[in-house]
Amino acid sequence: MAPHASVSSKPARATRIPTCRGDAVATDAMRDNDHVPALWEAGEWSAPASPVGMRAAKPVQMSGVFGEGVSVAVSLTFDDARASQLEGVRILDDHGLRATFYVLPSGVAAAPDRWWSVARLGHEIGNHSSTHPCSANFDFAAANALEDHTMQDIADDVDAATAMIQELIGVRPRTFAYPCGQSFTGRGRRRRSYVPVIAERFVAGRGCGSEVGNLPESCDLAHLEGYTVDGLDAGELRSLVAAGMTRGEWVIMAGHDIGADGPQTVSAPELDRFCSSLIRDDRVWVAPVIEVAERVAGVTQSAVVDALSGSPPRRRRSHLGSRDLRPAPGGQPDRRPFQHHEHPPSSRRPGAS
Ligand SMILES: [Zn+2]
Repeated sequence: MAPHASVSSKPARATRIPTCRGDAVATDAMRDNDHVPALWEAGEWSAPASPVGMRAAKPVQMSGVFGEGVSVAVSLTFDDARASQLEGVRILDDHGLRATFYVLPSGVAAAPDRWWSVARLGHEIGNHSSTHPCSANFDFAAANALEDHTMQDIADDVDAATAMIQELIGVRPRTFAYPCGQSFTGRGRRRRSYVPVIAERFVAGRGCGSEVGNLPESCDLAHLEGYTVDGLDAGELRSLVAAGMTRGEWVIMAGHDIGADGPQTVSAPELDRFCSSLIRDDRVWVAPVIEVAERVAGVTQSAVVDALSGSPPRRRRSHLGSRDLRPAPGGQPDRRPFQHHEHPPSSRRPGAS
């Protein structure tokens, strides 16, 4: 577990929560959050308990990065292009919310017309690799282990996914989610981070299994923190947003299946309740990862321009790598649907070419 700046006086009682890595816990503070919905209803987001019970609550700091009056940005993300997501996406659509789906080409190939429709509705389609390489400690990854991969293997795998997704549904992914939240190749002295491979290709990369949100002025867009939210109820999801609101964070949630209770599943009724809450507070900006990432990148570009012109910096610069920086947008967040290519889905399947 990651170190924290401060420790609560009350010891945390650990409870297992299913995650992509299977090792995350919920603490007393996360479970004991009955006050959070009440705060939400009252519009009072004053320093709720930390979602992990370890981070001290701080006064709300309005960064202004996300737009006037917005205290927290929230990105809902779902991995693997699982079939249940094609049903669950209706919950988001009913509430007018758009998410990011980090897809495997094999999942898209199972229902290209439907995934094309998901993109057409304004949801972001992101890259989640072609073959989902993870640590050899996962049984399913034994023959495709990151410990045995080279940096070129990763680059080829990711590029192949982009090409297949583009061929299937006419969308070129602009953000990436690390399979299993893992971002290394090799082992021992030859172990390396493959984050630079992602930074060269995408506006942003999302991790998972994190214990903190992203500070827009200092986060690394190429390796964003993401909470794993499988198995969490609406109150627990709200607690994560409430904690992010105290720090002006970008809160990224990573789930898998959407439906009935089960492993790696976000409960459909709980997601529905959570979405109902999200749309009732104007201080919460819900947007796909690409849109928040471009907002964050735009603000940091302003800082670079200020530095070159001798003006006092408006914002500290994020660690952006070599990505394409966009001009800083102004005013309220752009809530228009993200523009995708409008090509009809290809009838071809991965491996057909
Ligand atoms: Zn995955």
